[in-house]
Amino acid sequence: MMKRTHYSSEITPQMDGEEVIVAGWVHSIRALGKIIFVILRDREGTVQITAPKQKVEEGVFKTIKSLGVEDVIAVKGKVVANEKAPNGFEIIPIEVEVLNRAERPLPLDPAEKVPAELDTRLENRFLDLRKPRVQAIFKIRHEMLKSVRETFYSEGFIEVNTPKLVASATEGGTELFPISYFEKEAFLGQSPQLYKQMLMASGLDRVFEIAPIFRAEEHNTRRHLNEATSIDIEMAFADDKDAIKMLEKVVYNACVSVYENREKELNLLNHKLEVPPKSFDKITYDEAIEIAKRRGVEIEWGEDLSREAEKAIGEEMGGFYFIVDWPTEIRPFYTMPKDDKYCKAFDLMYKDLEISSGAQRIHIYDMLVESIKNKGLNPDAFTYYLEAFKYGMPPHAGWGLGADRFTMVLTGQENIRECVLFPRDRHRLTP
Ligand code: ATP
Ligand code: MG
Repeated sequence: MMKRTHYSSEITPQMDGEEVIVAGWVHSIRALGKIIFVILRDREGTVQITAPKQKVEEGVFKTIKSLGVEDVIAVKGKVVANEKAPNGFEIIPIEVEVLNRAERPLPLDPAEKVPAELDTRLENRFLDLRKPRVQAIFKIRHEMLKSVRETFYSEGFIEVNTPKLVASATEGGTELFPISYFEKEAFLGQSPQLYKQMLMASGLDRVFEIAPIFRAEEHNTRRHLNEATSIDIEMAFADDKDAIKMLEKVVYNACVSVYENREKELNLLNHKLEVPPKSFDKITYDEAIEIAKRRGVEIEWGEDLSREAEKAIGEEMGGFYFIVDWPTEIRPFYTMPKDDKYCKAFDLMYKDLEISSGAQRIHIYDMLVESIKNKGLNPDAFTYYLEAFKYGMPPHAGWGLGADRFTMVLTGQENIRECVLFPRDRHRLTP
């Protein structure tokens, strides 16, 4: 097998006369009798292979003539500067190796001459991903995850992995997937929350985890999946304000990284990403309710924000903003109260999309047991978790940031399915 020396994007007209080996897929092929043009596509872009009958060996010309779209090839050839060719150069082939043929017709056209529905695209995701525009989403997602990890490393976080097979719910709730686990009842983890907190009693001090969360969301929405990826942190000797600052840092840095390093991909997606300020606006839950009411949404104090409320608030606020000071009664039991009505919880929103939830947590054993009871849950179901609060638990805070939703924001996608390679929703368990 000939081995690639250059990606398409690494070749320039200045390399005129040099020999290179490129490898990829036949994006398109055009035969005009005595000359054949092949556009070869690799991860980084496309190059034109130009084969004039008189200038290439007979065997090579024959092989090129036999090619069809999406065949996998490697081409050794000479770079020739040519103003008329795309990117100002073409490659005159010396040797062509057909690494694999593609069956035709293709179930999906990666060259996008024929547009396809999302369902068909997801059915044939490996082909869909050959489209530069689709790949751009996952290059931006990668850039975000890389930046997020780098921020965590520089802030002294330790990467951890907690179990996804669990014995009980994080918060009670009905969003769990039951599984058969030998003779016991078990579930897929809906959040690493309880484990992150237990680790605060371990002295690891600052931990992060990037891992799947599973939720039996019944409804088909454009922002929910049944398997999502959560970027989770927990920090000890910290309060809600510290957690908010860390979230701002992580989100800001990721926006800068994508803005600076993924211009090509943003352009392919036609998405004008704006780098946010380093600190985001903050409104209280009460103010959020006021905004929703003023804009004609029917909502009562003490209710979670409905879709309509989120939309109304999002229209008024725009960009990234926090909603802070939530009523204690609508937040999970582990949330630290602020007074007898409000708690130290926050949500990070982007327009009308919630992308993160977090809070300072309760670190006092008795208070936690009381809070579990107040939510109508049984403390006995939380024995292993509660033990960690008995022998020296520091104050702590943290959050969970949806990687898929954050990717929607960074890439300008309206449907979360676009931001996940193989999405899992109510109707999709394959591929
Ligand atoms: P929502 O109210 O939008 O359903 P949530 O409040 O139930 O979200 P949290 O439990 O706060 O979600 O989870 C933290 C973050 O994880 C959310 O802000 C979101 O970014 C992400 N997330 C939660 N559930 C899902 C899901 N089903 N699909 C995709 N992302 C999710
Ligand atoms: Mg939430």
